[in-house]
Amino acid sequence: MPTSINPATGETIKEIAGHSDEDIERALTNAKLAFDEWKKTSFAHRASIMNKAADLLEERKNELARTATREMGKRLQEAVAEVEKCAWVCRYYAENAEAFLSDDPRDSDAKKAFVAYRPLGPVLAVMPWNFPYWQVFRFAAPTLMAGNVGLLKHASNVSMCALAIEEIFLDAGAPQGVFKTLVIGSSKVEHIIDDDRLRAVTLTGSGPAGAAVASAASNRFKPSVLELGGSDPFIVMPSADLEKAVETAVKARMINNGQSCIAAKRFIVHVDIYDDFLDAMKSKVSAMKIGDPMREDVDMGPLSSKQARDDIAQQVKKSVEEGATCVTGGKVVEGDGFFFEPTILANIPEGASARTEEFFGPVALVFKAVSAEDAIAIANDSPFGLGSSVWTRDSDEQEMFIREIEAGSTFVNAMVASDPRLPFGGIKDSGYGRELSREGILAFVNAKTVSMN
Ligand code: NDP
Repeated sequence: MPTSINPATGETIKEIAGHSDEDIERALTNAKLAFDEWKKTSFAHRASIMNKAADLLEERKNELARTATREMGKRLQEAVAEVEKCAWVCRYYAENAEAFLSDDPRDSDAKKAFVAYRPLGPVLAVMPWNFPYWQVFRFAAPTLMAGNVGLLKHASNVSMCALAIEEIFLDAGAPQGVFKTLVIGSSKVEHIIDDDRLRAVTLTGSGPAGAAVASAASNRFKPSVLELGGSDPFIVMPSADLEKAVETAVKARMINNGQSCIAAKRFIVHVDIYDDFLDAMKSKVSAMKIGDPMREDVDMGPLSSKQARDDIAQQVKKSVEEGATCVTGGKVVEGDGFFFEPTILANIPEGASARTEEFFGPVALVFKAVSAEDAIAIANDSPFGLGSSVWTRDSDEQEMFIREIEAGSTFVNAMVASDPRLPFGGIKDSGYGRELSREGILAFVNAKTVSMN
């Protein structure tokens, strides 16, 4: 039975009855029936429901945020901001979906030719706990607006958030079956992907989970989108505004208690400013206040689970054994709850595991670069390719970083952040496909060629 545990205290909040195999069967039948009607509705109709969902998110934001904080430990202020962002993505697609999917005329030998974008059917989302609302709404808003219907298999530790999302769509007026949460374990996912009624799948999470879902989808020729991990580089060159770069570096690494796929994780700093950067970063990181994520004066809450805390502690221990220097932090916080000190590791030797692994917790890895070319080489020496952030006022360097860094995005003098208006996704082991913006809604539609004489 899925269990929600408060990671700030270690206490069990709730045990949630999971859905049975019969429930899964019923959900698939209902999803198909709902799709057959939903796909015929107008964009205006779907937009009115999506806008109502946005209103409900805003009305319920404090209650929803508290649920997320209790289930996975993010700071309450960040949870409120997450819910507000969900309302934004709902309104964004309510406003733009029709234009994104309008018939697209093409020149050919026919009298008339165009591309018509048609929905595919029920789409399964396998989602992680780290942004328990945002990850789901950035899937649901474009998917439902395109005329598809959604099934959600959320991470097992955030079932209360998962059920609250279903309630929002139902209360907003979405018919039964248009959005359904299934409280099930990951062992049930392959069976759902195999089912003929299910037409596509998206997953945000770890590489192994992505590989399992992608191979099940490809066995049945179904499209998939994967948003996996990242170890984003954050390059700082001598011309950068150092104060702003350090302030953003700490925020970018420590947001969500260090558990974000697009967190800056590897700080690659030019040798000329390396010592100044590291000193300033150390003073900010070591001053962070760890504690109850419900409190406003706290900077860092717990990791999402005991396992997550133990994993990060093990990664730090191994890195130090391999020769890295622990500049600050590095220890488990004793007591109830799954807290880990905000940490900086530097002098990470060639071949050390920290150079290739993702650190999904509050640990910054700092590297020294002797030139822009060296910084790019370090940045690209990673299996991942999600986001990247570069800090320089030199336009030649900016252009080189944009051209050369292997990543799904490059943010110049800014922190990587998802935005409904901009496509989001990665390359290499960070996955494939794009969410958000026009690219996001095109992920799960049939681009149907129409040729008329
Ligand atoms: P997982 O990838 O295990 O979980 C993400 C989702 O996938 C959950 O709903 C999970 O279900 C499901 N899942 C797990 N294994 C399978 C499978 N074999 N088949 C189908 N579905 C599966 O992430 P974790 O929570 O375990 O975190 C581990 C690592 O994943 C992190 O350290 C980080 O590297 C990465 N991660 C990346 C995220 C991102 O935003 N890109 C977000 C979260 C994690 P269930 O909970 O029931 O196991």
